[in-house]
Amino acid sequence: MPRAGCGRDTPDVATLQLFNTLSGKVEPLTPVGTPDLRMYCCGPTVYNYGHIGNFRTFLHVDLLRRVLLQFGLTVQHVMNITDVDDKIIRNATAANIPINQYTAKYEQAFFEDLTALNIQLPEHIARATECIPEMVALIQQLAAKDIAYRTEDGSWYFRLARDPEYGKLSKKDLENITDGARVDLDEYEKDAARDFALWKATKPGETSWETPIGPGRPGWHIECSAMATKFLGQSFDLHAGGEDLMFPHHENEIAQSECASGHPFARHWMHVRFLLVEGRKMSKSEGNFYTLRDLLLKGYRASAIRFLLLSVPYCNQMNFTFDGLTESTNAIDRLRTFAKRIKTGTFPQGRDESIAAATIKAEHDYTAALANDLNTAEARAAIFDLVRAANTAADHGTLHTENAAEILRVLTLFDAVFAVLEDHDADLTRAALAWAEREGRLDQAAPELLATLALSDADIDALVAERTQAKKTRNFARADAIRNDLLAKGILIEDSKDGVRWKRK
Ligand SMILES: [Zn+2]
Repeated sequence: MPRAGCGRDTPDVATLQLFNTLSGKVEPLTPVGTPDLRMYCCGPTVYNYGHIGNFRTFLHVDLLRRVLLQFGLTVQHVMNITDVDDKIIRNATAANIPINQYTAKYEQAFFEDLTALNIQLPEHIARATECIPEMVALIQQLAAKDIAYRTEDGSWYFRLARDPEYGKLSKKDLENITDGARVDLDEYEKDAARDFALWKATKPGETSWETPIGPGRPGWHIECSAMATKFLGQSFDLHAGGEDLMFPHHENEIAQSECASGHPFARHWMHVRFLLVEGRKMSKSEGNFYTLRDLLLKGYRASAIRFLLLSVPYCNQMNFTFDGLTESTNAIDRLRTFAKRIKTGTFPQGRDESIAAATIKAEHDYTAALANDLNTAEARAAIFDLVRAANTAADHGTLHTENAAEILRVLTLFDAVFAVLEDHDADLTRAALAWAEREGRLDQAAPELLATLALSDADIDALVAERTQAKKTRNFARADAIRNDLLAKGILIEDSKDGVRWKRK
């Protein structure tokens, strides 16, 4: 296993062992047929702002991607944007605007949210409305085999009875397949095994495309089959998505793709499990439904949200709590303070063997945890063990310059995956507030947040300088008043031997 301090930028190439929903086993994830690992992740349906359950999935796919890169692989990662579906058409019709005008706003918001959460963009992003010819071609392939059929109204359906393997991903007992029973909704009841819509005939007033299979619009499932194949080929390495998409969406993707091509679709399937909020299913009626923007307006940091959502491994259900979010904020502060200490502290020359051994162990444990089905909880724990050991050593003067360099290297590896050390939080909060102002939602922002951000950096610098001057002239009442006033607005002043620093909480 890798040793710290030997000058490499990445650990020895490790192989990721990842649970495969399709086989039901933990298996190595490696590229087949091309040097790049080819992966597809179902993207958002841009009909509203993304909620934290959505972002839990996108964050764990981002983590997977970063781990693969850290383990020395290159990736070709595709994500779709579903910009036409039942809900979009319904909402755009209600707002009396074209669907692309309706979706543009939420697509932009989605990308802003990805940036806020430090999620890397995939190599390819494909909008459904821009891949209609590929979807039509796939339906034509299925029609040529009599697996797709057209109904009187001009819609096309997938003939489920023609796929003996249907259900192999979700392992559902689907014995009651009634030949010809149909469902035309994009999302339908669990356990319903019905011929599903590939192409929907135009209804009056709906957006539609003129195509060789008639006028209409695509179903949701055909979209992902067509886009994955367009960018990654008929067979590729990994398909990822939220647990809620396993059935029927992913099952239908497999059916369409494999029946059309005659080849296996994705070899490996990764599903990110559900998110509960305060122990309950997240729902608007329960009052525990949160978008990322809701949390930013409450004054929580984007980095803390990222760290919390990543801290529970993807294969476990996660219970999101506000206590957990506060702990996550504190954990990031500890890490950032530690990183600063290691980077800027003055240490005796040389190397302490005991702390060197702790550093090697931390790197080993961190890498092994991620390689073992992306165990983020253990990876995180390995780093915090190192933080504790190194802080103690630094307090006792036994941490040396070479130790600091080695620790910094491990922190860099950690942050290439977890990506929480750089502090952009205040900028992100400002951006969220600017959005809230445009949308007329400033009343949803926490009052202390508004007070903090009402002060520019220059305002704060001036107050801090005034406080320093007041202390010099022994006007302690004024100095304390400035400090307390800033604290009430979420600004901490730190007096250190290098001078006075301040930061936004
Ligand atoms: Zn999909």
